Amino acid sequence: MNIIEIYQKFPTENDCIKHLEYIRWKDQPRCVYCKSTKTTPLPKENRHHCNNCNTTFKVTVDTIFHHTHLDLQKWFLALCLILNAKKGISARQLARDIKVNKDTAWRIGMKVREAMTQQGQRQLLTGIVEMDETYIGGKPRKGSGGYNKRGRGTKKPPVVGMVQRDTGNFKAEVVKNRKLSSKNLMALVRKNIDINNATLVTDQYRGYIGIQRLMPHKVVDHTVWYVNGDAHTNTVESFWTLLKRGIIGQYHKVSLRYLPRYIDEFCYRWNNRQDENLFTTTLLKAMGG
Ligand SMILES: [Zn+2]
Repeated sequence: MNIIEIYQKFPTENDCIKHLEYIRWKDQPRCVYCKSTKTTPLPKENRHHCNNCNTTFKVTVDTIFHHTHLDLQKWFLALCLILNAKKGISARQLARDIKVNKDTAWRIGMKVREAMTQQGQRQLLTGIVEMDETYIGGKPRKGSGGYNKRGRGTKKPPVVGMVQRDTGNFKAEVVKNRKLSSKNLMALVRKNIDINNATLVTDQYRGYIGIQRLMPHKVVDHTVWYVNGDAHTNTVESFWTLLKRGIIGQYHKVSLRYLPRYIDEFCYRWNNRQDENLFTTTLLKAMGG
């Protein structure tokens, strides 16, 4: 879905409400408080009355659109713009595109990212799984003690990515306490990979030593110029390129607090790039589905 289609399919607030109602309830509105289906529509206010608990409610209760004063069409447009922005979209750009102020655009962006969270994705990676680390955030500054060092040993937050090579399914997260220790890496492996049905491919970082006791492990030799069979981490590396371009280009400085949300955003787009109904799929998640 692109923004032209959004304008055409949802020209009014009412059309947006109808769509959300259909996504949430299909044809049977259900009280958001007591779950009763004994309801009466109040079409003038775009609300429903519950005949059981005698309250009125709107389809947006308990969703990212709750308590919004903004037109739903703008929310729909924002969602569409974010889903289609391969390298992300800054709050400033979003503000210009949907004509809201920058703070509002920032809040909308963060709400939409809630719907793009990796949390709740329990499916473990199998087959050949590439795993790699990188450091994100903050341009290197001179004289800031370690901050301008490249690679391991910097104070930038380390991020670990894992990808199932055949499906491209990607998981990434900021490493706990910013420590790329064996213990933290092992914990990430156990959490995200089906260790009985996968082969891990990593670089030669010593934090991975010992992982072969857990599961089959191939190591990439970066001193060799050719790719040695399966032993490469090119898929993760192309994700890092995209993520870094996005973060540097659109989001400039990202604080550690929000970094996980941006990482989730990039994983979400990457993992769902072939979903033709991604707009509706994501709306459903935004509705708590
Ligand atoms: Zn009720």
